[in-house]
Parts: sequence; structure tokens; C-alpha cells
Amino acid sequence: MAGIIVVFDFDKTIIDCDSDNWVVDQLGATELFERLLPTMPWNSLMDRMMKELHSQGKTVEEIADCLKKAPLDPHVIAAIKSAYAHGCELRVVSDANLFFIETILKHHGLLEYFSEVNTNPSYVDEEGRLRIFPYHDFSTSSHGCSLCPPNMCKGKIIERIQAQASVDGKKRFIYLGDGKGDYCPSLRLSEEDYVMPRKEYPLWQLICDNPQQFKAEIHEWSNGEELERILLQLINRLIAVDRKNAAQVFSVDCKFETIPMPPNEALPLPLRVPH
Ligand SMILES: [Mg+2]
Ligand SMILES: [Zn+2]
Repeated sequence: MAGIIVVFDFDKTIIDCDSDNWVVDQLGATELFERLLPTMPWNSLMDRMMKELHSQGKTVEEIADCLKKAPLDPHVIAAIKSAYAHGCELRVVSDANLFFIETILKHHGLLEYFSEVNTNPSYVDEEGRLRIFPYHDFSTSSHGCSLCPPNMCKGKIIERIQAQASVDGKKRFIYLGDGKGDYCPSLRLSEEDYVMPRKEYPLWQLICDNPQQFKAEIHEWSNGEELERILLQLINRLIAVDRKNAAQVFSVDCKFETIPMPPNEALPLPLRVPH
């Protein structure tokens, strides 16, 4: 493994739209959604919208078919597969829900590339209605972060991933996102990590407003092609730094004269595919 964890937001990062809006709009429920939005949290409203669609006779299969049509740039698919092949560990951290994300990732053959999907839980009940619940149950307690919506603090999720990952040695993070919810986790990254905000989206704007509060290095991207190119550049850079450090340790430890290491380009990367 490369010791690199790549964390992807889902909506407007992996897919090019917001999956919640996509389903609501495609299934003709936009007006009700907009009317109810000022009255309840987004996550609770999505559960309510699923109830509404179910009562109108829309099935879970119709919702799944609609999700499968959500736009996903081929460059993003290539980026995910290349990052995995270079030994990175991939995770999703998203305020959508498990049914939406799994349906889309499975449809594109991408689900097995991710070691973990952190998102709002969902299931299909006995009546065939999709139920969506908060990741953090805010009816019993607050997660305590004022930057994030009540149902999910992505910063707390990143902290947990950082703590778990550090058990097996040093890990570097690359975080990709677009929204306000990606601000809190971006603040938690260290000097050796990277944040990739989508240009001219809310996270990018928040970073531009106050760049000095971030420790991680910032690399903006606008579309799938840039996402792929920049992500792979950063991964290659981290791998090259690792190799250089390993070569230095080797030359110090060795009793012989320093053995010249071949240049990075000469070493083929061990590529892997998911089972
Ligand atoms: Mg997003
Ligand atoms: Zn937070």
C-alpha cells in the first residue's frame, strides 16, 4: 500500500450533480421539496420525499433507474481506478445516503474500489419505501460542531479515519470535495496532506476567503479531466517522496558504499485491481 488515503465527497465531486436534487427533480417532486426545505433539515426532508414518492406509486426500482442516469465523468472513473491501482486506500464521506451512493457506484463498477462509504444510513422497508436516516442521531444529542449540519460532521469522520489509519504508521490524505460540509474535514488535515476543492464551488470560496487557516496544500480542479490529472500528480508526488525517504534510510543503514538507486521513472508501479 502507498500509505495514501484518498477521501472523496460524493455529490458534485464523484458524480457531477447532487444525487438528492437529481432524484427529486427527475421524479417530478421539485416543487414540494422546495416548499418543505425551509421547514426541516435536509436529511429529514429526503426521508419525507421518499415517503411522498412512494405514496405516488414510485418504486425503489424507479428511483434506482433514475440514479443510474446521474452524470459521472469518465475521467472521474479513470481517476478512481488509477488511484486504487497505485495502492491508495479510497473512501467516500458523503451527506447523501447509502442507497443512492451504492446504486450509482455499483452501476459503474466502482463500489469495490472503496474500502468504506461513510454516509447517512438508508434501507427499504417492508412496504417498499426507501427510508433515509441521519448519520448522527441529532434527536438524542448534538455532534457539537457548529460548522456542520446536525446529521453529520464530516470533520469528526475524518478524525476517526485519521486515528484508525495512524495505527499502521504514517498516512497522507488527499481530500476532494465541493461543498460547505467539506470545509470542517479540510480544516483537520495536516501540512503533509492535500485538499482538492472544486473551483468556484462553496468549499473553494471558503478556502479563498481565509486560506491561512488551512494546513494542507490546496489544489483546485474544475472538471473530471482536471480532477484525474491533478489527483494522479499528487499521488505520484507522494509516492516519489516515499521512495526517496526509503532510499535514504537504505543508504544510511547499509555498511557498503551508497548503492545508486534507479530514478523513480525506472521503477514500475505495482498495479492492482479489486477482487
Ligand atoms: Mg458535494
Ligand atoms: Zn464539523
